[in-house]
Amino acid sequence: MSIFTDKSAAHFDVIVIGSGIAGLSVALAAAPRRVALLTRGEAGADGASCWAQGGIAAALGAGDSAAAHARDTLVAGSHMNDARAVQVLTAAAADAVHWLQANGVAFDRHGDAFALGREAAHGHARIVHAQGDATGAAVMRALTQRAREAAHIQCLEQSVVTELLCHGDTVYGVCVSGAAGTHFLRADSVVLATGGIGALYRHSTNPDTADASGLALAICAGAEFSDMEFVQFHPTALRTGGSGQLPLLTEALRGAGAVLLNGSGHRFMPAIAREAELAPRDVVARAVWQELERGETVWLDATRAVGADFPQRFPTVFASCQAEGIDPRVAPMPVVPAQHYHMGGVRVDAYARSSLDGLYAVGEVACSGVHGANRLASNSLLEGVVFGRELGRRLALQPSPKLPAPPLSASRLCSDAQVSEAIATRIRDLLWRHAGLVRERTGLQRALEELKTLEARAQSTAEFGRIAVARAIAFAAIRRRNSIGAHYRSDAPQSRVG
Ligand SMILES: Cc1cc2nc3c(=O)[nH]c(=O)nc-3n(C[C@H](O)[C@H](O)[C@H](O)COP(=O)(O)OP(=O)(O)OC[C@H]3O[C@@H](n4cnc5c(N)ncnc54)[C@H](O)[C@@H]3O)c2cc1C
Repeated sequence: MSIFTDKSAAHFDVIVIGSGIAGLSVALAAAPRRVALLTRGEAGADGASCWAQGGIAAALGAGDSAAAHARDTLVAGSHMNDARAVQVLTAAAADAVHWLQANGVAFDRHGDAFALGREAAHGHARIVHAQGDATGAAVMRALTQRAREAAHIQCLEQSVVTELLCHGDTVYGVCVSGAAGTHFLRADSVVLATGGIGALYRHSTNPDTADASGLALAICAGAEFSDMEFVQFHPTALRTGGSGQLPLLTEALRGAGAVLLNGSGHRFMPAIAREAELAPRDVVARAVWQELERGETVWLDATRAVGADFPQRFPTVFASCQAEGIDPRVAPMPVVPAQHYHMGGVRVDAYARSSLDGLYAVGEVACSGVHGANRLASNSLLEGVVFGRELGRRLALQPSPKLPAPPLSASRLCSDAQVSEAIATRIRDLLWRHAGLVRERTGLQRALEELKTLEARAQSTAEFGRIAVARAIAFAAIRRRNSIGAHYRSDAPQSRVG
């Protein structure tokens, strides 16, 4: 019998919401506990993980160390990081890479050793990658295959979680909307692995599935959240004329010598930062934003630095350019900054526990404090594997709770997953303009007022949830009255901790 036809609601040991790198890592490591893996679309292919290009950071090279990786992570995060989480992440990185390899990921190699790339703000070459700039896709193919083969995992695709079922401060199940209608599932433990918030910004590198719905579910259930103002923007997304997900032009292009030019052909970065195009992400992203605000167009020119080698060295970027009718071997690429990663999220402790019993969070939806005020490049896939596996192992050992689960009311209605286009667009425009790369008090206040008005018009729980996340970001941004990490206030531009 399908679990969806059982009116008493099927019971699992663990429900994992999301099949990105974090969700799959939890699910695989939780064996032999019975896991329901719920995901919006096709498992392993519907989140940000499969879009990751650069790779995974791990101190595997000669002369490198976990301590050096930790130092770089703390500097990138402006020392706002949770130092213990950073230590756990960086110490477990090499083991995480070997685990992925054992699960079938064929990382690129130079002879017997991993081929290690170097990225901005890393003191050593320590980025392992697969198939050049297609690391995420290679990792997700391997882990998804393992999950499909695993007897303890039941993969429920095309299933959107619309509500967390709570009894007091305990989460005991979920409401799911799928092809077979809406249903309840119960579990001893519910894990949010729902990814980021890109769909809340006009331009993002994230797929549309990164719509903050997991964070919204947690906030609506009363879970604590933190660091909401820390949103990372990538300086170089390909400007296609559309909004929503834009193709990422990887940092490695600038690492290879590509330069940023404005519409007059002027290379503007050397006047702004000593490292020019290789300055930290937030510095380059703001410089691009300021050129655009002045009415300039901005271009990334790789014709000299990469030229004819483009298709071999950057196959993913080359394909995106070709789809837009651009040949980056001979022409510069038009760029715009785009929302890329959320450092904030559901507040969790070192064991991925949220403030609600039975509810856990891992990956981009979680805020363990590991990234501080800004994430070091290539630490995100790593975070998903390290904290995901650790949580899975703990859940595997956890005894089932003795308390009987509360009864489900037969009349209870599942909530609605739909967000109207009008509300989604208004949120995207408000956050892009007022809680984006450059923020200031008056604009943030205006955004908060409009979001409050929008809330009064909300028709569904999904709309309430999305507005709640947007308000939490704007509220945190107005409360932090200084610039730090990825949070930049033009009315207090001097960076300082506090
Ligand atoms: C273009 C791009 C390039 C990147 N490059 C790198 C890189 O090189 N290195 C690096 O470390 N990081 C990189 N990142 C960041 C990294 O990819 C993400 O932070 C990471 O993959 C997030 O993993 P996750 O498992 O938390 O979420 P995701 O992979 O986004 O998965 C979220 C899952 O949750 C599901 N979901 C969401 N809401 C619901 C719901 N309500 N019900 C059911 N299912 C739901 C989604 O369908 C999906 O399966 C990149 C990101 C992008 C967008």
